[in-house]
Amino acid sequence: GAPLATTCAIAAAATKGLFIKRPHTVELLPSVTAAGLDKTGTLTTGEFGVRVQERFSKTPLTADALKLAAALEMKSAHPIAAAIVSEAMGCIGEANEHNELPEVKGFRVVEGVGIKGRVRVESSFVRVFVGNKRVLDAVNATPTAHAQFANFQQQHPSDTAVAVVVNDELTLGLALNDTVREDAAQMVEELRDLGCEPRIFTGDAEQSGRAVAMAVGIDPDSCHFSMKPEDKFMVIKELEEEGSLSLMLGDGINDSKALATATVGIAMGERSAALAAKTADMVMITDKMIRLPQCIRLCRYAVLIEK
Ligand code: ADP
Ligand code: MG
Repeated sequence: GAPLATTCAIAAAATKGLFIKRPHTVELLPSVTAAGLDKTGTLTTGEFGVRVQERFSKTPLTADALKLAAALEMKSAHPIAAAIVSEAMGCIGEANEHNELPEVKGFRVVEGVGIKGRVRVESSFVRVFVGNKRVLDAVNATPTAHAQFANFQQQHPSDTAVAVVVNDELTLGLALNDTVREDAAQMVEELRDLGCEPRIFTGDAEQSGRAVAMAVGIDPDSCHFSMKPEDKFMVIKELEEEGSLSLMLGDGINDSKALATATVGIAMGERSAALAAKTADMVMITDKMIRLPQCIRLCRYAVLIEK
């Protein structure tokens, strides 16, 4: 069995909502020198709201684009999805008793990009693709569409810009925002004090990554943006190869590979994806981020006492 101090540290951490799965983690945690922090759902609450809508095309389907997007998002677990569904439901309103979204066929998640499928409009189906600017590359959108969306993204720099593409045409832009957790900046500062240099990992665009970096006190130039799950894993792997012991804190399926590779992988929040919780060495079932540096300090003492 583990030494008593280790066992006590694990028990004490658990009462604060941090579950350490293996005794070895108590020893490793105080030695981490670099941290990868996922943005959406980790540094931020992941509770998005649709702030702005902009129509880009004049096809008759434009009026329904939000509903078409929401029909797809019903099948997605991404934090963005709930916001788009609730916005669409709000627009359908109580006038329609059924509040039903149209039928979807061939739903698919495209990692690091968004979601796609066919959505019923009257007696036929239209192709709908919802996600970030990579969606436009995927459908070979016109230079005009690329420029329109880039412009939209620039106008809402700290928001997450989402493109709704219907039958390969950019139809609607949505600007969504969520909230940076209250104690994220404090956690960053304390991690740094403990010798662990934090950086941000995000699948989101550069501007929104930089905005969150600024809000939590991390150099925006060190923010990794537009990352695919593979990229998060690669940066962790490189850090480890350079001799850093890394910590990865994330909540999503897209963080799982990085969580598994880091010296200490930590799944953030009660709502973190099951796969993230499974691959992580620790699970935080608290939203209080400062519990993490507190836990590192606790583990540090446990290791000292045992020596
Ligand atoms: P993060 O690393 O910020 O948690 P993800 O890797 O989960 O982000 O997603 C990367 C990006 O892909 C998101 O920022 C978003 O632009 C887009 N995206 C992913 N899933 C969806 C979805 N269901 N609806 C709209 N956009 C999505
Ligand atoms: Mg996330």
